[in-house]
Amino acid sequence: MTNLSNQIENQLPAELISFMQAAGAIVAYQGQRIYLVGGIVRDLLLRRSNFDLDLVVEGDAINLAQQLTNITQGKITTHPRFNTAKLRWNKWSIDLATARAETYDRPGALPKVKPGSLTDDLFRRDFTINTMAVQLNPTSYGELIDLHEGMGDLEQKLIRILHEKSFTDDATRIWRGLRYEQRLGFQMEANTLKLLKRDIPMLDTISSDRIRHELELILKEECPEKVLHRAEELKVLTKLHPALRGNSWLAEKFEQARQLSTSGLPSIGFYLSLLTYPLASEEVEQVISRLRLPKSLTQTLRDTNSLKTKLKSLADPKLNPSNIYSILHGCSPTAITTNLLATNSTVARQHIQLFLKKFRYVKPTLTGDDLIKMGIAPGPQIKEILTTLHNAQLDGKVTSKLEEENLVKKWL
Ligand code: ATP
Ligand code: MG
Repeated sequence: MTNLSNQIENQLPAELISFMQAAGAIVAYQGQRIYLVGGIVRDLLLRRSNFDLDLVVEGDAINLAQQLTNITQGKITTHPRFNTAKLRWNKWSIDLATARAETYDRPGALPKVKPGSLTDDLFRRDFTINTMAVQLNPTSYGELIDLHEGMGDLEQKLIRILHEKSFTDDATRIWRGLRYEQRLGFQMEANTLKLLKRDIPMLDTISSDRIRHELELILKEECPEKVLHRAEELKVLTKLHPALRGNSWLAEKFEQARQLSTSGLPSIGFYLSLLTYPLASEEVEQVISRLRLPKSLTQTLRDTNSLKTKLKSLADPKLNPSNIYSILHGCSPTAITTNLLATNSTVARQHIQLFLKKFRYVKPTLTGDDLIKMGIAPGPQIKEILTTLHNAQLDGKVTSKLEEENLVKKWL
């Protein structure tokens, strides 16, 4: 019998450990059982850092969560339909679920759930390496439950589904599988790979929201380009859109995006703009609708694509600062940075950098009120004059308030 109490002791913060032990004691007192399950168990065995606790109770998760808030003073959110609860306190977030069995009425549908045993709960999961559980009841604390040979697959570095219909029931597991494979440096087990390829058409049964969610998870990985590369190789990416590529160009740009982002974690919008960069505008629209992207992301992708069509003019070495400004102002910052990374033209790149470092901060000193005081009638001409002044300032034709005033007087 493998016991993971040492791993728990060494890898998890003391606060989380006492929480789990308290939960174990309460549950045992009520004659029920509680387990640590899924990704955290996998990561304990792999010695990878992970503090997302997933707990499964053979009993009542919501009721337990309510009792536990007395100990932790945390915030609780409940989902009665699934009998699950989330507890948050300090920087921790813990999921508590009632053990359940799932059935699928049709491919791609959300599962029907009913209360079940731990065995049912483990059987509904995606891959063997995610099906291990650790007992938390005091008398068996730390003992590993491994019903699907997850440990063996961890050792052999294999991603393996639990049954032949797994990808048919839920094709998001195809994307999940590629994500784990690339994150952990594992391989698809041979039969899993065969079934994955067979079931690629099932990706069409998945709703936009679920596909978008999986893609977001991928873009939060350390190296999303690896997953996208593998997805292209297996013809999974083509299901998202046939024009998308997970090639070395993308890998290079994603790496540059990470270097440019202060946190080292580019936003979803930045990554998506680079991913859709090579697409024609109608293809970008198809991606937007397949993923049902929210407004702000949609705008970023459209801005990126429309700026791409203006790069030719930005690559003209004779452009004045005011020309550069008029091309770039109003574009979303992500669209500008994406084009900065994506263009091959040195001149266009220099112009974008000048805009980002200098031109975008240039503001005329005179205001509309100043112009009116100088005798110009209120109306649309005010805005025109301000724009002309702004351009003059960008192009270095005026450098002080006095020069601006003189210029206006000359026009008058
Ligand atoms: P990660 O490190 O990416 O968070 P995780 O294993 O914790 O990995 P979650 O997405 O947090 O993954 O899901 C928790 C658990 O729920 C997984 O370990 C897996 O067993 C199960 N799970 C999640 N999504 C599915 C799915 N589509 N089909 C089957 N099981 C799933
Ligand atoms: Mg998780």
